[in-house]
Amino acid sequence: MNSRELLAKLVGFDTTSRESNLHLIEFVRDYLAGFGVPCELIFNEPRSKANLFATLGPPQVPGIVLSGHTDVVPVDGQAWSVAPFELSEHDGKLYGRGTADMKGYIACVLAAVPRFLAAPLRMPLHIALSYDEEVGCLGVRSLLAELERRPHKPLLCIIGEPTELKPVLGHKGKLAMRCDVHGAACHSAYAPQGVNAIEYAAELIGELGRIGARLRRPELHDPRFDPPYSTVQTGLISGGKALNIVPADCRFDFEVRALPNQDPRQVAEQLRHFAQQQLVPRMQAVDGASGIGFSELSAYPGLATDADSQAARWIAQFCGSSEFGTVAFGTEGGLFDAVGIPTVICGPGSMDQGHKPDEFVSLAQLAGCDAMLERLASALQR
Ligand SMILES: [Zn+2]
Repeated sequence: MNSRELLAKLVGFDTTSRESNLHLIEFVRDYLAGFGVPCELIFNEPRSKANLFATLGPPQVPGIVLSGHTDVVPVDGQAWSVAPFELSEHDGKLYGRGTADMKGYIACVLAAVPRFLAAPLRMPLHIALSYDEEVGCLGVRSLLAELERRPHKPLLCIIGEPTELKPVLGHKGKLAMRCDVHGAACHSAYAPQGVNAIEYAAELIGELGRIGARLRRPELHDPRFDPPYSTVQTGLISGGKALNIVPADCRFDFEVRALPNQDPRQVAEQLRHFAQQQLVPRMQAVDGASGIGFSELSAYPGLATDADSQAARWIAQFCGSSEFGTVAFGTEGGLFDAVGIPTVICGPGSMDQGHKPDEFVSLAQLAGCDAMLERLASALQR
């Protein structure tokens, strides 16, 4: 099967993150078995989803990982003009959920398996497929824990998120946090006798704004990223029952998008410190049971692979460009990097189409990815 035929198969499996990905994983397992390639499945707790890991070529030396996530974002509420889980072609473009993000890359990798086996390879190529990337890079963590136990750490990981086949060396990290402010209700006519949770939440959000302003200082900028500084924003808020009741509860969610060399948890720590020092004493002077709680919703690290590294030289060679860039979206790359596997991002299609109705990848991009993997096979030939 060529990459287009394989993409049709992969798009046919509805692997929205809330669904099982096992039908797709079993298809890939059987496809690889057809070439005599065994694979390991690393299941989640209820065994409803799995990562897949397979090795082609000599396993006793360090190699290169070709990595992608199998899950896709929902199509709910989106106005698709084609069936999202059925590949269709129009004007040189292949439409379907996941064609760009990122089943196109997985299809090309699978289509290249006979070529990789025929090479023969002097170092192994690993195929690593994960689940639950779109809901916080959750699935790949158990796969990485497994890889960390092995004697040979891979020398490079190529994550095929859509970059239009341009080599990408970095992205920001992200931390998503929830804050619960618990105050004390009373009749609004006696407002000073209550602890107004919304007003204390507003003070916290104001402080987040000041922290965000400090992160914009020019000396902290990294011009590789857009915007070139870490950002903080509050995206959700709820609280209150009626205007004539002092609100007892307010909850808001905020996120930090941090440059790879900055720790987003420091922002959360600064806010916690402000809450403990400035707000909680005032709240508890009125009602001892009031307080402020923080919980982490999700987090993934940033990625900043050195442009002078072997990893960067390799991807430049394979994709035919050394115009290294960064992307605004997150990937599993920071997690691979954190376990000592140098990682780059390069794949077919554009994130301009990702997560949208009528998502597509062009046939030209798919052919370009096939060509990149052909150069990889030639470079690793014995
Ligand atoms: Zn993706």
